[in-house]
Amino acid sequence: MSSFDSFAVVDWSSGNDTGPTPRKDAIWAGAVIDGVENEPVYLRNRQLAFDWLVDLIQSERDAGRRLMIGFDFPFGYPRGFAKRVTGSDDPFALWGYFADHLEDTPEANNRFALAGALNAKFPGIGPFWFNAGKADVDHLPRKGTERADHGMLERRAVEELAKGSFTCWQMGGAGAVGGQVMTGLATLEGLRRHFGPQIAVWPFEKLDAPVAFVEIWPSLISGVVADAGDDIKDRAQVRFLARALSRLSSSALAGMLDLDAPEEGWILGVGHQDTLSSAARSRLPNDCFALPAGVDWLPVDEALARLRSAMHPITDVETTPIMEAGGRILAQDHFAKRANPPTANCAVDGYGLFLEEPVHGFERDIVTGRAAPGEPFTGRIGAGQAVKVLTGAILPNGVNTIVLEEDSLVDGAKLRTDARLKPGANTRRAGEDLAVGDLALGAGRQLTPADLATLAAVGHSAVQVRQRLRVAVLSTGTELRAPGTATEGYETNDANRPMLLECLRRWGYDPVDLGIVEDDPKAVTSALDRAATEADAVLTSGGASASEEDHISSVLKADGQLTAWRIALKPGRPLALATWNGCPVFGLPGNPVAAMVCTLIFARPALSKLAGGKWVEPLRVSIPSGFTKSKKAGRREYPRARIGVDGRVELYQSEGSGRISGLSWADGLVELPDRAAEIVPGDPVTYMPFSGFGI
Ligand code: AMP
Ligand code: MG
Repeated sequence: MSSFDSFAVVDWSSGNDTGPTPRKDAIWAGAVIDGVENEPVYLRNRQLAFDWLVDLIQSERDAGRRLMIGFDFPFGYPRGFAKRVTGSDDPFALWGYFADHLEDTPEANNRFALAGALNAKFPGIGPFWFNAGKADVDHLPRKGTERADHGMLERRAVEELAKGSFTCWQMGGAGAVGGQVMTGLATLEGLRRHFGPQIAVWPFEKLDAPVAFVEIWPSLISGVVADAGDDIKDRAQVRFLARALSRLSSSALAGMLDLDAPEEGWILGVGHQDTLSSAARSRLPNDCFALPAGVDWLPVDEALARLRSAMHPITDVETTPIMEAGGRILAQDHFAKRANPPTANCAVDGYGLFLEEPVHGFERDIVTGRAAPGEPFTGRIGAGQAVKVLTGAILPNGVNTIVLEEDSLVDGAKLRTDARLKPGANTRRAGEDLAVGDLALGAGRQLTPADLATLAAVGHSAVQVRQRLRVAVLSTGTELRAPGTATEGYETNDANRPMLLECLRRWGYDPVDLGIVEDDPKAVTSALDRAATEADAVLTSGGASASEEDHISSVLKADGQLTAWRIALKPGRPLALATWNGCPVFGLPGNPVAAMVCTLIFARPALSKLAGGKWVEPLRVSIPSGFTKSKKAGRREYPRARIGVDGRVELYQSEGSGRISGLSWADGLVELPDRAAEIVPGDPVTYMPFSGFGI
């Protein structure tokens, strides 16, 4: 069984259509598609849910991805039931029975009558029970206690382990699942019939098909759901269950799937509640920074490619008025609600008239009145007439062309011009910029001032954006002191924190200042614990190498799935990448110059993706070199640079990476290739201005 790319979770309901407004106790579906979390979807009835599932499965098949879907109802009944009803132990015979016997529409279904009909196949009274209706249902007792001698166990084996679960015999009452199993299995069987062998059902079949159905139970992560405080609990359940499944390491998921329950089925994750809950709380898979065995030195481009595919949006979605949305990241595509321009209008001041074909000079009678912005002309312009118009006014009736004010010779009520004019000249068509329904701006876009204008123009007053990414900054080193407080020779002013916090601010994130921690494992551990609760991601600096005082490395190695990425890069040391309680940690070198370069090259695009934005590339421009340099093959170099008065790129005089002032001297970096290079003045080199890094 290979691992899955996408995960969906459906919270089922056996009731009738729940109406257009999203509400609780309805069908809800959550999904994490190829690592990207979607907002849960409200499905008001089972027919819509079926269509949604067909579309989801089809689009994942088309994309060539493997999909796991979890459903919150039992896939089987206590042992012996299938045989009694269908003559076979095969759970799918039972699925087929429900698909064939359940009559289900958005307004009504026959689940109570069906429960009675099934009871008739058993001796005694039961096993199904519950009837809140006035009329009696044949063979269906109203109370569980009325049942006797039907011969079925009350629960499946897994339900003995799932404390608080309801039995599938109870057909109604708060929390009952009896009707959900019947309607649910009928729906799943419909999907099996539609997709055939592309679907495998756990634990009845080997999961070697591209789509897997599993049974899940939201109560396994009830703590996470309660903490979320969503007034629609079903929505929180599918959100966090889908997140949990997607964030489990493939070995943890394989461990949960590895069991036998041939007839009754099983709830995925029973006995693994803690693993599931921590995956539901965690932002990224724990092993997201792992490197395959045997990878030693990583070229910069390979490191970037790995980072790019490991990072996914981890922030939630909120609605923000566009007046406050500058710098925020769109969580979904935004389409034009109104055309721009909404109506055909005048592009210049002049006279509006009708032309059938291109002309060279003509005369018209000017009518009284005019068309101005916000003051439409109400009459109609006939052949031989013209009307005064101002820029931005909507085109009067009968006008398709404007002659410029400057080209108009007006004599009393007569207009004459010598201009050459084509029909449509100097007008703007309705929707020529954006028509209703056109994509205005796509998901992942970090909103610029111009974007706010575009959104406003096409009718948006508020937008769906990602919550701001909170990024903690932590400096480590026993020698470090708050800026300006180092006095002894062995003390160092903390230069990285102000620099990194300001980068984050400029990128539109919420910086969280976690101060300085000394080189002590306990202090580092508690600082990381705090970081993981107060922030979505952490930048640490210092202590990231392998020496005995490098406690970021040692603590992350012990408890945080550390992978030290040895990147073929100067200036730089290993980049310590890890997750701490599911929170991504970027362990930067302590040296401020190296810390800055690693932040710009690696942390910036990674944080952008975590924030829900695009993988951002720095601006690269080719500029003649003003320097001479010879470099060996095998690693990329990013020396500090600036553009001199002659328009050529100069390098900072010293490569010493302790020279912080060189960062201030520079206005960018030069990118020297991995290969060997002999650069002489005049050769084109790649220059990357700091402004192109967004700082
Ligand atoms: P480390 O990566 O901890 O081995 O540190 C490398 C060098 O960078 C040492 O000289 C540290 O004192 C210095 N350094 C580490 N963190 C900072 C910081 N926040 N500000 C200034 N210098 C630092
Ligand atoms: Mg140190």
